[in-house]
Amino acid sequence: MSRFLSELYSSLEAYVPGEQPRDRKYIKLNTNESPFPPSPKVLQALDKETINNLNLYPDPEIGVLRQSIAAHYGLSQEQVFTANGSDDVIAFSIMAFCGRGGALACPDITYGFYPVYARLFGVDLTEIPLKEDFSVDPEDYFGLERNIIIANPNAPTGMAITTKQVESILQVNPDRLVMIDEAYMDFCGKGCVELIDRYDNLLVIRTFSKSRSLAGLRIGFAMGSKELIADLEKIRFSFNPYNINGLTMRAAAAAIHDRDYYDRCISQIVNTRETTALKLKALGFTVLDSKANFVFASHPDFSGEALYLALKEQGILVRHFGKERIKDFIRITVGSEEEMNAVICKLQEMIKR
Ligand SMILES: *Cc1c(COP(=O)(O)O)cnc(C)c1O
Repeated sequence: MSRFLSELYSSLEAYVPGEQPRDRKYIKLNTNESPFPPSPKVLQALDKETINNLNLYPDPEIGVLRQSIAAHYGLSQEQVFTANGSDDVIAFSIMAFCGRGGALACPDITYGFYPVYARLFGVDLTEIPLKEDFSVDPEDYFGLERNIIIANPNAPTGMAITTKQVESILQVNPDRLVMIDEAYMDFCGKGCVELIDRYDNLLVIRTFSKSRSLAGLRIGFAMGSKELIADLEKIRFSFNPYNINGLTMRAAAAAIHDRDYYDRCISQIVNTRETTALKLKALGFTVLDSKANFVFASHPDFSGEALYLALKEQGILVRHFGKERIKDFIRITVGSEEEMNAVICKLQEMIKR
């Protein structure tokens, strides 16, 4: 630390992303990326005209992209906010609606960035324990008198609550903002976008990183009432109105138009998830009921760390979290069928030994 870092940030604990090693070739199943390339339409969108226009600043309204997302979900552009990855969307949202002394609640086991942002923006965060079976109990979020953020499906458990359950949280907390992070919703359903017109306290957050094979592009978005989106735009224009570059805008808009391609990718990932879960159970693993593009599993004879290290030695990267309640688990991204066969094969050898 230099002598110059503001005292505000001296005790900040930064988020630790999953490893992105460059030293050797791994079967990479640790950060929930898609095994499939983006839609071929993405490459087509990056045409000569788009490249030549890079001498100009991009559209600060991000019109092309917001309009495309809005059309996809039957909304208007004013109900859509975009940023450089949903991490940025979550950061802007926590800053805008809870910053400097506001209060927020999230599950005790969830996406690791929520507590980091809470600290960064001076937010009082309460962590609500998941139930014994790792599910979110909506009733735990009734009458908390604070804003709420829930990943649905949750990470790293993969477990989901229903739209009805989300609605119950919205109804009981009409004066609190409820942010639902649907990073993995494409792998299980439609999510709660349909509730936006009825609940002005709902913000739905999504990303192109998982189901749209575009983690490298960095695009996330939020959907909510025009008023909520205008608030987020105010923060964005106070920070960086050009946070989405011209190439990204075109590429992401092309991706969202190619429904067929992504429907096929998603259904393949869901199939592979189900067969992988069955194979793991046959090997004696406990596997949570994942609705996402990963499985969360533990084995009675091995610690989570032992499983993680053994797989890494064999050239397979999965994610292990040191947190007490989940330290026996590993999270395995659902890759291609071949990749999952390789994982199962290595685990089988390990268990037989
Ligand atoms: C991956 C993930 C994100 C971040 O997505 P980006 O758009 O790549 O920043 C947000 N929330 C959850 C729950 C995630 O798992």
